[in-house]
Amino acid sequence: MTVRFVILGGGPAGVQAASHAARLGAEVVMVERDVIGGSANLWDCIPSKAMIATGGVMSLMGRAHRMGLLPMEASLDPAGVTERIAGITSHLATGVEVLLASQGVRLLRGTGRLTGPHQVTAETNEETVELEADAVLVATGSRPRVPAWCEVDGSRVLVTRQAYPPPEMPTHLVVIGSGVTGVEFVHMFRSFGSEVSLIVSRQQVLPSKDPEVAAALENDFLRRGVRLYKGARAVGIDLDTAGKGATGGSGAAGGSDVTRDTVTVRCDDGRRIEGSHALLAIGSIPNSEDLGLEEIGVKVDDGGYVPVNHHCQSNVEHIYAAGDVSGKLPLASVASMQGRKVAEHVMGLHTRAHRHLDYDKAASAIFTEPEIADVGLAEAEAFAEGRKIRVTKVPFAASARALIDGDPRGFVKILSDPATGQVLGGSIVGAHAAELISVIALAVTANLRVTDIVESLLVHPALAEALADAAD
Ligand SMILES: Cc1cc2nc3c(=O)[nH]c(=O)nc-3n(C[C@H](O)[C@H](O)[C@H](O)COP(=O)(O)OP(=O)(O)OC[C@H]3O[C@@H](n4cnc5c(N)ncnc54)[C@H](O)[C@@H]3O)c2cc1C
Repeated sequence: MTVRFVILGGGPAGVQAASHAARLGAEVVMVERDVIGGSANLWDCIPSKAMIATGGVMSLMGRAHRMGLLPMEASLDPAGVTERIAGITSHLATGVEVLLASQGVRLLRGTGRLTGPHQVTAETNEETVELEADAVLVATGSRPRVPAWCEVDGSRVLVTRQAYPPPEMPTHLVVIGSGVTGVEFVHMFRSFGSEVSLIVSRQQVLPSKDPEVAAALENDFLRRGVRLYKGARAVGIDLDTAGKGATGGSGAAGGSDVTRDTVTVRCDDGRRIEGSHALLAIGSIPNSEDLGLEEIGVKVDDGGYVPVNHHCQSNVEHIYAAGDVSGKLPLASVASMQGRKVAEHVMGLHTRAHRHLDYDKAASAIFTEPEIADVGLAEAEAFAEGRKIRVTKVPFAASARALIDGDPRGFVKILSDPATGQVLGGSIVGAHAAELISVIALAVTANLRVTDIVESLLVHPALAEALADAAD
């Protein structure tokens, strides 16, 4: 009997689940109300990294004189950036649509919701489609969190989705939130030449990361003139009217045609940080409302997430949740892998060749300059657990390729088991860290030993040689 599998949401989780289940023989319908590829493609991963890549070229040109070139200068063309991002997004969306169509996945452009345990209704522009499903995947993603004290006007006070690029380039951007998204936007706008202030609620940017890694980034920010306000929590934003010094409270933000020149972010310790624009990067909230979940008995927690087991099943066994809405690691890569595992479970593959998803082995990267990437066990975590580990570290300053490329910043750190040599984790700070971490990620997933890395015959001169040196 053919399995009827309905997917709500066409982001990385939905797309991967659809594609894999179709290949395994399911009859798949995917309902997406916006763009195939999801927020990851339209709003998050792709546009942010495209903007960072443009900024990267600008900063590379700033270093041109160190490469034996006469100094060069680049200036930003915001319309060109917008066009470039739209081109990448639509190219990727079209590619995925063609692939899914070739696999027989039925795409419905509209909003879906569960109307019964095995029933999904999709409202498209033209019609209402009633679907019967043996299994349903909720992969509806998330959206930026906006606190009650802040009114986003899309002009001076922005969320990330309004900054690709914003209607007017900030002369001075105040970034609220120093997690991964916050620091990426600091880096991005500093590369474009904006003054940037960063509000850091704790004493360290990237509070969940290795302190040595966070310190490397902080030092780079300070060197580039970014102002860090540590131990400060934003509690309000005031918009000041041009030339009048008048303060419009948060309620005065939207819909007015008054030109406003400054934003002032108020902090809980009394500090006031002034800039031309403010950007909120304080996390996201799941898209789980209006899906009919509670009505059919699917548990949704207080944060709006759908709790899932290691097969991504909700408390109702044929209703799965994957991606940001599942409240696990909010990464596109994790969402995709969850989608794949859901497809395998729906098709009964978990009883045969199926490896459970291990969130502790997810590699992640921060696209700052230098880039930061890590995977597996972190040093601080090992010490907190009182676990014996071997930590080896090599700076890129010793790498021929880093010197040739004119960017010897950063280091590679590998954590291994002193008794067995098994690779447990690692961090990389430096150019192309997001690519290089794949080697350590593979080692961690495949339970390789440091000698497996050391004895790989690598290319010379290549940054990856630093991995072998650190493993040695
Ligand atoms: C600024 C930023 C940058 C990021 N950069 C990275 C990065 O570089 N690398 C990385 O791994 N992660 C990154 N992330 C995280 C990543 O974007 C998310 O983890 C990922 O998008 C989650 O995928 P998803 O499949 O859960 O949902 P999404 O990508 O959010 O897609 C969900 C889709 O569901 C649709 N939908 C919602 N409700 C319905 C409904 N009722 N009916 C039909 N369709 C519906 C939405 O339109 C959307 O298209 C970034 C996040 C942010 C905010």
